[in-house]
Amino acid sequence: MSAERAAVTSVRAAAYTIPTDQPEADGTLAWDSTVMVVVHVAGGGHEGLGWTYCAQAAKTVVDEKLAGVVTGGDVFSVPAQHEAMVRACRNMGRPGIAACAISAVDVALWDLKARCLGVPLADLWGRARPDVPVYGSGGFTTYDDETTAAQLEGWVNAGIPRVKIKIGESWGARPERDLARVGLARRVVGDDVEFYVDANGAYTRKQAIRVGRQMTDAHGVEWFEEPVSSDDLAGLREVRDHCDADVAAGEYGYSVEYFAPMIGSGAVDCIQADATRCGGFTGWQAVGHLAAANGVQISGHCAPNLHAHVAVCAANLRHLEYFHDHSRIEGLLLEGTLPPEGGALVPATDRPGLGLSVRDAVAEQYRTA
Ligand SMILES: [Mg+2]
Repeated sequence: MSAERAAVTSVRAAAYTIPTDQPEADGTLAWDSTVMVVVHVAGGGHEGLGWTYCAQAAKTVVDEKLAGVVTGGDVFSVPAQHEAMVRACRNMGRPGIAACAISAVDVALWDLKARCLGVPLADLWGRARPDVPVYGSGGFTTYDDETTAAQLEGWVNAGIPRVKIKIGESWGARPERDLARVGLARRVVGDDVEFYVDANGAYTRKQAIRVGRQMTDAHGVEWFEEPVSSDDLAGLREVRDHCDADVAAGEYGYSVEYFAPMIGSGAVDCIQADATRCGGFTGWQAVGHLAAANGVQISGHCAPNLHAHVAVCAANLRHLEYFHDHSRIEGLLLEGTLPPEGGALVPATDRPGLGLSVRDAVAEQYRTA
């Protein structure tokens, strides 16, 4: 391990647009592609990798604002670089696209630091657990029964003992189909698999309570994600008070300040945080500590190969979302991705940083900016 200090010498960003393998929708949104904005930060003879799932505009924020902020800064002082980026984005509006851009650069800076020191990122911080439990996530409302069953069987056959499907179809307009799909999913996975649902904020409060009670009573649903809008903290709390399933939310948090009232008001049983949105690894760890201080667990939202290293360092981790779109995209574009063997990811001990690299020839086929 070397303690040579170095400066960031360059930052480059690219946007890739990857079509979904089928039309996809949840309770409140439909999509047919995913944009991945990838950032590389160079310094000390190494290059760090980070990314966010956002809009192409995040690349513009990196190119036109953040690159100039971090270039010349100390490779080892990631929190200082993070703070400088946050301050620089004040007038453009930090939540949303700017926060995603900051997140990608923050992740790349941490990866670079670990590479300069020649250690896996998880060992730079220190592991708190042997592995990162994952849950299979997909089950889109656009899927027919055969597609849903095949996807669920794929996860269970891979040894993943937790699964989640989307409900709340068409802003809660089809609760009967939601319940039928929940019943189908439970029949497919059997009684020994933990079964979760995500309504993406589609239901009204009372509707969520009615559906939630039926799902828990009839099908043993243990996790009810965004039963109502994640902006409705009182509503989340109301659902939580009237359903047995754990209520979870937090994926749209773009700064640690967002999470304080959500956790402090008792709105959730488990907080979800997305390091590609909430300020990278710096932000995710702050949310994890905030949750720990309030006796709440944290779950990593999507981007499984990005979250694995930071998640394995969180003692209060519940699990990580092994999201269909992102596991597929990361497997396609990145070398060194982690298999969900036995239902958990284990960050490698023999590769520095995140242990990942971009397959340039493949990625180039999807490049849109
Ligand atoms: Mg969700």
